[in-house]
Amino acid sequence: MHELTLLFGVAEQVGKVTEENGIDHIDAVVLDIGDLTAVIPEFMMDGYQVISDEYDFLRGSELIINRIKGIARCSDCGEDYYVVENEGICPECGSQRKDILTGKEFLIREVRVLEHGEPDL
Ligand SMILES: [Zn+2]
Repeated sequence: MHELTLLFGVAEQVGKVTEENGIDHIDAVVLDIGDLTAVIPEFMMDGYQVISDEYDFLRGSELIINRIKGIARCSDCGEDYYVVENEGICPECGSQRKDILTGKEFLIREVRVLEHGEPDL
């Protein structure tokens, strides 16, 4: 399950961000994951439960996955189309030759920190 490896990488990067900014704890990590990557979101969510418990700054935080649709440009007719829905074949001319425009993303979009004021009672 390479999702765990990816998640450890995410945790490491978030750890650097928290260190540089003097943050003790974060509330959510937002990842951009393209649907042409081999990453399975469900495995990421499950894995995050395990990994977030290993780090003080991640414990109890949430993973939010922002799926990016795979879009390709046909090399033969120039049409842009959704790769997954069209099974990698241009709906205009039937060519399989293409350049991938989006869908290969795997990056940390955002690290969210909420204000944790003590409630005034
Ligand atoms: Zn085409």
